[in-house]
Amino acid sequence: MLKAYSYAASAADKPLGPLEIQRRDVGPNDVRIDILFCGVCHSDLHMARNEWGGSNYPVVPGHEIVGRVVEVGADVTKFKAGDLAGVGCMVDSCRVCASCQEGLEQFCDGPASFTQTYNSPDAKSGGFTAGGYSTAIVVDEAFTLRIPGNLDPAAVAPLLCAGITTYSPLRHWNVQKGQKVGIVGLGGLGHMGVKIAAAMGAHVVLFTTSPGKIDDAKRLGAHEVVISKDADQMAAHANTFDFILNTVAASHDLDQFMALLKRDGTMTLVGAPEHPHPSPSVMNMIFKRRSLAGSLIGGIAETQEMLDFCGKHGITSDIEMIRMDEINHAYERMLKSDVKYRFVIDMATLES
Ligand SMILES: [Zn+2]
Ligand SMILES: [Zn+2]
Repeated sequence: MLKAYSYAASAADKPLGPLEIQRRDVGPNDVRIDILFCGVCHSDLHMARNEWGGSNYPVVPGHEIVGRVVEVGADVTKFKAGDLAGVGCMVDSCRVCASCQEGLEQFCDGPASFTQTYNSPDAKSGGFTAGGYSTAIVVDEAFTLRIPGNLDPAAVAPLLCAGITTYSPLRHWNVQKGQKVGIVGLGGLGHMGVKIAAAMGAHVVLFTTSPGKIDDAKRLGAHEVVISKDADQMAAHANTFDFILNTVAASHDLDQFMALLKRDGTMTLVGAPEHPHPSPSVMNMIFKRRSLAGSLIGGIAETQEMLDFCGKHGITSDIEMIRMDEINHAYERMLKSDVKYRFVIDMATLES
């Protein structure tokens, strides 16, 4: 076993603090990664505070990991010591079910579904998995991603969750050059959605409730910005969208956006609200055969495709770097949406 240092929540009502942890020895298919940077996702906060239930303490959050490979197992082929590597929301899955066979590990139908990077039962070393708020991690190479060399590794970290969460639905619903695509919400997810949809060649319309975000949305690549509280602005876009990616994680009226879809258009939800949305109008769906859908991160192959796409188009997240010991304050700021647009922890600030 290898000693590592981490930041962990010891209970739902406790701030995160330092904790020494153990990583498993490097097996034949494993890579050991010294973590350089870890993005801060809303899921980290929910899990640290047991807001979804089922948190297993201590919780070491973090699933937007970029680091340097320092050791590889005898059978590893994709990596060698010195390479940059990434780890996202999953570190294993059953690998034999229909979803895994299709490269859709995020929908693993195995008895334990996929193994989350943190807070999942750890079949390999017992206990529960510990995430990226730590100095090192050992991961099977099959769940380890290659990082494009031309991108800032700190700003790549959020691509491992926020990037793939927005890229996967844009690909699955086959967004094409010239299509009109809406992105609802300009936070950690929304700002990635704007950048990626624009790079795919779509005409991107950002929906926000905050007039203060107009300039930033355009800087990030939106062609138009609509203030969603303004009924006239909304009505001007009725029946015109091919696809809408809704990233808002708070309960809200979905009908106002469904009415903007063309015939056969789809709105896909990727934000997980604490309280349900009001039920959408059936009339709104049947009259133009519109669809309402959901999407969860993306498979490993698609995550690599997303990273390569971002490398090709020079896309990274807009980040604010923090020290490890600033994480509790960062959570409070995140709750107030006071971040543009993702906190990333500089893991060099977590020393033994
Ligand atoms: Zn996440
Ligand atoms: Zn499976």
